[in-house]
Amino acid sequence: MAEHDELHTDRPHPARVYDYLLGGKDNFAADREAAHRGLEANPDSRIPPRQNRLFLRRAVRFLAERGIDQFLDIGTGIPSAPNVHHVAQGIEPRSRIVYVDNDPIVLAHARALLTSDPRGRTDYLDADLRDVDSILGSAALRGTLDLGRPVGLLLIAILHFIGDDDGPDEIVRRLLAALPPGSYLALSHLTGDFRPEAWAQVAEVYRRQGVTMRVRSKPEIARFFTGLEMVDPGLQIVSQWRPELGEPTEEPSPSDEQVSVYGAVARKP
Ligand code: SAH
Repeated sequence: MAEHDELHTDRPHPARVYDYLLGGKDNFAADREAAHRGLEANPDSRIPPRQNRLFLRRAVRFLAERGIDQFLDIGTGIPSAPNVHHVAQGIEPRSRIVYVDNDPIVLAHARALLTSDPRGRTDYLDADLRDVDSILGSAALRGTLDLGRPVGLLLIAILHFIGDDDGPDEIVRRLLAALPPGSYLALSHLTGDFRPEAWAQVAEVYRRQGVTMRVRSKPEIARFFTGLEMVDPGLQIVSQWRPELGEPTEEPSPSDEQVSVYGAVARKP
């Protein structure tokens, strides 16, 4: 019972709803119910997680090919292979990755993230993005990453769970301030630009369960990259961001409106 209490299986959690929409098995009835209510509001609700996950892999590949061999992945989600370390270590086996999430279900599955190539290293930190100091000061981060060398900071599909009251711009700014020049930010974020009513309904499904979801406009998302040098092609709907870096696919390309996730990669000068 204690474990169930901690996992709060009676209400939906973003990591598990996301897992369900991706076709995973690590979810409970409340998560599936929320996912289905989301699907009623927006029948294309499976497309954003799928396209976002493909963007994550392409962005990590891009950074690894540019010599980035240290990653800080905040809002890791339930493991869904290939995870960041599989992609990065496939290019540089000595790559080091710190995974961070605040959901107990992700912690329960963290073992799948600790399967590092012996030449590299991965660690897992149970922490909240809003507590930047506890992330930056953690033994997991300090023992795994060398903050004297460039780091790839991954904030993939997490900031739309941070409301304006929690100061998301400031959170991103403080994390980047701790990383040396030559570091990169890869970020993706849900947008309501194309289907505002549908996304307002999805956000309402979460809100009723006590979960903040704040979709943002393209200019609001662009603000997170203030002071950074955008990598081509800039802030795009994720399916349009360097599709050539992905696996060839037979899947039809979804429309921008179906995807409704913006993403970009940028360098700290
Ligand atoms: N980055 C992964 C998973 C995205 S799902 C991917 O793109 O595939 C969003 C994840 O962010 C969930 O696992 C959720 O638990 C986590 N998350 C949400 N708010 C968080 C917070 N304040 N601190 C840490 N993790 C958070």
